[in-house]
Amino acid sequence: MTMDRGLDVVDFHLHFRIGADETIRACEHAVGMHPGDDADRATRAAGIAPYAAEWRRAWSFPDPEPSAPRWQDEADRWADELRSNGIRRAVFVTGGGNDAVADAVARHPDLFLGFAHHDPFQPDAAAELERAVTERGLRGWKLFAPLLRGPLDDPALDPVWRTAQRLRVPVLVHMGHYGSAGGLPSSPYDSPNHLARVARRFPDLAFVVPHFGVQHVQELLFACWGCPNIHVDTSGSNQWVRWMPYRLTLDDLFRRCYETIGPHRIVFGSDSSWFPRGYVSRYLDDQLRICREMRMPEADLRAIFAGNAERLLGQ
Ligand SMILES: [Zn+2]
Repeated sequence: MTMDRGLDVVDFHLHFRIGADETIRACEHAVGMHPGDDADRATRAAGIAPYAAEWRRAWSFPDPEPSAPRWQDEADRWADELRSNGIRRAVFVTGGGNDAVADAVARHPDLFLGFAHHDPFQPDAAAELERAVTERGLRGWKLFAPLLRGPLDDPALDPVWRTAQRLRVPVLVHMGHYGSAGGLPSSPYDSPNHLARVARRFPDLAFVVPHFGVQHVQELLFACWGCPNIHVDTSGSNQWVRWMPYRLTLDDLFRRCYETIGPHRIVFGSDSSWFPRGYVSRYLDDQLRICREMRMPEADLRAIFAGNAERLLGQ
């Protein structure tokens, strides 16, 4: 490693084999994101693909390659990436189902942690979360609110929130535009207001909203004001800021979140997810530079880039 960050890093947000993840694909189908292969192809042909290609070009990212045939090879490749980029622990928040994620974690338990990801409205959702955590060693639960079939504050979900709270595992809830170029812009169910009502009823359950809440950043800040158990993660390119109707930058997001919700509820993540891009160190380095240029005390840097994640993960 050529870079000396002078900081211990725990990454709260990566995806394992996202291109081959049939569990996510099934959720996308359920909300009509893929009206059919022909329509998908037509959408791409109509001009969505260039946005994705432009984005990769702007960031100097290569084109994605298909997942390796053997998941073990991909797990080993991630382990090498984490070691060479100086990342001490990394959380895979999805990876093709709870057992697949648990298997990947078990291959590199010194480096990897994993989250469950399944439909909270499925009848056995609470039991499956309990199994994933207590029997398979997963350490949290990932949800994509725009892919849900009902609101987060539906009383039908109370048993699963109660289970998560008892198990002391954090719940990472994606809000807002899902899937970047060609994605799903919004849904009736991805509101931080719904999340705030749940967070208030389950005050010992930690929620984390990734990517600063995307276009719901304002609602998310207010939800964080009302609920001390709601956190934000910083993961991804946060390219969504370019699509806001007013000027907003990653610097602005860090500043605003630091000044309002404070350093103990901001959690670093990279959203690394595919090869040959591998570990996206430039997200980490950009974010760390922003925080250092803000003259954050070292204790706050340690919290944002490792300590908060460790606390949430019970490490
Ligand atoms: Zn992600």
